[in-house]
Amino acid sequence: NRVPLIAGNWKMNLDHLQAIAFVQKLAWSLADAKHDPASVEVAVFPPFTDLRSVQTLVSADKLPIAFGGQDVSEHDSGAYTGEISGAFLKALECSYVLIGHSERRTLHAESDEQVAGKVAAAIKHNVVPIICVGETSDDLEKHGPSAVPVAQLKAALAGVSATADIVVAYEPVWAIGSGQAATPEQAEQVAAALRAELRETLGEDVAAKTRILYGGSVKAANIAGFMREPNVDGALVGGASLDLNEFSSIVRYQK
Ligand code: 13P
Repeated sequence: NRVPLIAGNWKMNLDHLQAIAFVQKLAWSLADAKHDPASVEVAVFPPFTDLRSVQTLVSADKLPIAFGGQDVSEHDSGAYTGEISGAFLKALECSYVLIGHSERRTLHAESDEQVAGKVAAAIKHNVVPIICVGETSDDLEKHGPSAVPVAQLKAALAGVSATADIVVAYEPVWAIGSGQAATPEQAEQVAAALRAELRETLGEDVAAKTRILYGGSVKAANIAGFMREPNVDGALVGGASLDLNEFSSIVRYQK
């Protein structure tokens, strides 16, 4: 009874004009396919500078497309040059925000503590955090498949209560942008371990209702395999989310 979520992380691609064109075409494509948002939820994660334009279009035409930011500040407001508050995302009707993406952890040295702070900030402002976790190939060799993602999730949940609405995204770093996706079995193994961690930390209700996404070289050709796994409830798509036909096909994986 978890509604699958197909999320497109645009990363630093598409300006606000390109975003409007893309979201409009995506909406037409979903309408053509008689997309039912109750069966698969679709969300896009544009750069911050696009969010107002996307919000305007989505709300004016009541499009069945959710959206959110790619990051959020731990703080509510103040002297934090360059940062974006969860309150600002909420004011733009963002449903979700990505937190702790591997590119933030690696390129911007985000720590587990910062990730936990950002998760708490998102929840405080009623924006659902999509908590991103994943191991490098080095981690995989040294610690096996689940240890690092589970430890990252445990740390990220430090300030989360058992009533919180969250999403978890498992993205093995070695699979991101490499064209070498995990196998559905590998994704399932880690997703099951992440769900067990949710159960232990937040209880059975949260574990049962929380969606766990797989991300890393997802495309139309491999999505169905992931979606057949019992603990995988959707995908976080990078490169393929920028190609309208490819992303639409991913959304329609079951047909
Ligand atoms: P790719 O789909 O390009 O591998 O990127 C995955 C990702 O990082 C989504 O957040």
